[in-house]
Amino acid sequence: MKNLQCPKCHSQEIIRLPGSIEPPAMFSGAKPPSSFKSINVTHYCCANCGFTESWVDNPEDLKVLLKKYGF
Ligand SMILES: [Zn+2]
Repeated sequence: MKNLQCPKCHSQEIIRLPGSIEPPAMFSGAKPPSSFKSINVTHYCCANCGFTESWVDNPEDLKVLLKKYGF
C-alpha cells in the first residue's frame, strides 16, 4: 500500500491519514506506564474499496511494541 496502489482492487486512489496508537491502559481510564507513549502511525485507505492499512512511522516505536507485546 506504501506504493500507493490498493492490493485488493488495484485502485491508485489512496488516502493517507495520520494517526496514532494509544497505550491500551488509557481505554480503562488507568494511567499508562510512562514508558509507553502514543505511537505515530500512518493509515493508508483505498478511496475505491475502503481497504485500510496502518504503518508505524518510527522503527524505534516498533522495537518498543515488540518488547511489550511481542510473542
Ligand atoms: Zn481498494
